[in-house]
Amino acid sequence: MRKSFEVLDVTSLEIPLRSKIILVEAIGRDTLAIESLTSLINRTAMEHSITTGTFIKSQLLPYILNDVEASLTKEVNTYYRLINRSFSINENTLLGRSVINAMHDLTFGNGFYDLTLIGISILLKQSSIRTSRSWCPVCFYEAEELGNPIYEKLIWSLSCVTTCLIHNCYLCTECLHCKTELKYLNTSSRVGYCDNCFRWLGEESTPINSTDINWQHWVQENLDFLLCNQTFINENLDSIRIVEQIGLIFQQLRKSKISKKQLADIMGYNRCTLFEWMRGAHGIALESLLLLSYCVGISVEHLLFSDMSKLVISNVKQAPESVRGGKRDTTIKTTIAARGEFLQKIISRNDYPPPKLGDIAKELGYKSNESLRGFFPVECKIIGERHKEFRAKQSVENNISLRSKVRQEIIECYKEGYYPSKRRLEDRLGQRGLFMNSKFNELRKEVFIEFGIQPR
Ligand SMILES: [Zn+2]
Ligand SMILES: [Zn+2]
Repeated sequence: MRKSFEVLDVTSLEIPLRSKIILVEAIGRDTLAIESLTSLINRTAMEHSITTGTFIKSQLLPYILNDVEASLTKEVNTYYRLINRSFSINENTLLGRSVINAMHDLTFGNGFYDLTLIGISILLKQSSIRTSRSWCPVCFYEAEELGNPIYEKLIWSLSCVTTCLIHNCYLCTECLHCKTELKYLNTSSRVGYCDNCFRWLGEESTPINSTDINWQHWVQENLDFLLCNQTFINENLDSIRIVEQIGLIFQQLRKSKISKKQLADIMGYNRCTLFEWMRGAHGIALESLLLLSYCVGISVEHLLFSDMSKLVISNVKQAPESVRGGKRDTTIKTTIAARGEFLQKIISRNDYPPPKLGDIAKELGYKSNESLRGFFPVECKIIGERHKEFRAKQSVENNISLRSKVRQEIIECYKEGYYPSKRRLEDRLGQRGLFMNSKFNELRKEVFIEFGIQPR
């Protein structure tokens, strides 16, 4: 008897493509509390039980090398460059866009753009972004207490946001324990923890002594509009429109007999700055736009998109003392050209010892070398290398001097009949903790070999 069997379909199954990494959901979408991309990267690494450094090296870097390497100086280590410039990942930069592309490809997820400030990049200047992390310690503390995920908000990366309005407290800008400023991404960074001393950054409460709370309410209410409508702003706002709208504001003020000089005084600016905004010479920074809108009492949304001719501005409000004159964005007081000249002068003066790049950056009002390097890569390289050479030379000289001291003390010990232990040498050289210095240990070993001393 013939038996008939079921016919098997032998065409191979189509297995859908798998993402390389798990997509971690961003927190606070479509609200002012939206998470930043750097925070999501830190959390994604944690979700995969690897450090952020490993995540960057093994996952992000292969993409970023393809995208950015050509524009980066060859000898610069891309990994460390990414860590040092991690503040720019939340911005409209080549690095930021590369990271977004990498995250798209790795997770098959969409929409990492809203975790950055790309949509409002027309309003951002170099000073608008903090180069190190800031956070509300009470937000961290509360999330931990309630068992919610701990994350960093995108608005915390803006220098005009200084307080948490949920907890009425100032944002922290350095570790509560070791006072270190923290990078957005680092080898072992973790949201809620210091990447230097690894301690918890949450705190139960921080007393507030701010009189600027109204100002911060104004800032964050307007940021709510800006961050939640990034696509619309990106498509509808350009520098011409900004200049036109500002020009119309000044016209309306003139109708109410308020001069530019009066407005400039109230805002704490020089009158020329207001003329520059009108001419559209350098654009207007987000902080200044917020301050202008605060002083004339018109929200940023209306200021940028409403028909100004119908608005009546009858009076203007005094700028809060802490932000008068855009204090937050005028740390760097000189123009780019003047800064360039200053650096050229330092290079041609060729002082000895050569100054540290960090000190020069501070003198010019920068918080980090990286921001200065962004504008003057060539000059910074020359200054940095001179100092590096000097340090290397100094280190060689110090080693020679340390060697002769160690040698001398070992000879003295032997003359006196003592064994030249590390402790004894430390005492005689008057330098505690020398045993931790690998150079000292090496030199001691060398002298031991020279005199045929058996280590005990
Ligand atoms: Zn908070
Ligand atoms: Zn710390």
